Amino acid sequence: MRYALILASLLLVISACKSTEEFSGFSYDPPDVTDTTDKELIPQYERVIGAGSPKVWVSNEFEGARFNDFYMINDSLFEVYIKPENAPINNSPWFAFKVWSDTVRSAKIKINYQDATHRYVPKLHRPDSSGEVHLDDYESLDFKYDSTKSVAIIELELSKTPVLVSAQPLQTTKELTVELKKRDITGRDFVNMRKAGLSKQGREIIELEITEVDSGQTAPVLAIVGRQHPPEVTGYLASLFFLEELASESALARNFRNTFVVKAFPLVNPDGTDMGHWRHNAGGVDLNRDWKNFNQPETKVVRDALLWMKGHNKRIMFYAIDFHSTNENLFYPINEEVKTDPDNITQNWIKMIMKDNENIDFTVEEFDTSSPIAKNWFYHTFGIDAVTYEVDDQLQMNELEEVSRSAARSLMQLLLEEWKAKKP
Ligand SMILES: [Zn+2]
Repeated sequence: MRYALILASLLLVISACKSTEEFSGFSYDPPDVTDTTDKELIPQYERVIGAGSPKVWVSNEFEGARFNDFYMINDSLFEVYIKPENAPINNSPWFAFKVWSDTVRSAKIKINYQDATHRYVPKLHRPDSSGEVHLDDYESLDFKYDSTKSVAIIELELSKTPVLVSAQPLQTTKELTVELKKRDITGRDFVNMRKAGLSKQGREIIELEITEVDSGQTAPVLAIVGRQHPPEVTGYLASLFFLEELASESALARNFRNTFVVKAFPLVNPDGTDMGHWRHNAGGVDLNRDWKNFNQPETKVVRDALLWMKGHNKRIMFYAIDFHSTNENLFYPINEEVKTDPDNITQNWIKMIMKDNENIDFTVEEFDTSSPIAKNWFYHTFGIDAVTYEVDDQLQMNELEEVSRSAARSLMQLLLEEWKAKKP
């Protein structure tokens, strides 16, 4: 009897481990995505290339840039090759290049995606005289694609002044501190910005703590992570609007900050972002498949900045959001049947978001907790509810702002109510 019980529990343990070990990726993942040991990168050579007569020039000599080759096809048609950092990889073909000409002329440019099909509407940015890049000044370009969608063709009016063509607004590590300052998030008494650790290539991973709670006082914690996948700029911008709302002067935000501690990591993959990667970090790995093995420095940094709160009596992990982007507004909650503490925050929150934004479509897809992603690490480590929050690639900036700010407000309201009900 006793042996049978031991055997039964052993089998249970083995099968429980097995189900996690065997998680091989979501349907949209390439094979072996959960093997998060370092993979080789295909280098992107930084250069300026000219072709044609008069010449058309392209450059990837800046952070966040991505193009791998450039050719002339005929007098008016040119081709830019876009390759990923390594393959196989998810379909997220990021591109960003500067283009100009020796004379004023128009040129058609084929954006040729290798290992991918078209996803991002090309954006144009004409820098002003200061050379600064402003988020609001990006215009979406008309484009055509071929039947395989592996090519998008744009037409540009060129001059000696370089213009930027990119898949989404360019938001590198340099822009993070600029945006945080511009949005009045940093530089306040209740916002503490620190370096949580370093990426594989030694870039800083920034942690923001937003709170007006005294260090000795017991408080629940809201964790925010984002930008594990470099091209997912709409999700990243949503997280910045979130932080702006959490740091605002509204009575709700002040009440929230007097009760909660916010720990935010808005840019978890700084190397991939500055290297113009499609998805991976400098180790060639999808960071959002590394939350079980922790083979990569970036996931380790975030884990270690939060793990001390496990079982802590003053800081109680309460809810977590992981921001991403895809081709729709999509929430991935933990299955409603899975008991978390507090329970079903996401399901209740989504109802509030939908009610506040009736003109926007949202999709909800619940998942079990077996995959090695950030959300599930929060659940397995702290027993809390958490969500993967995917923002539509094509959401207009004004809609993005409206949805993000209202979602931040409804979450603050909901979390305050939940904490009031559960407060020890
Ligand atoms: Zn993502």
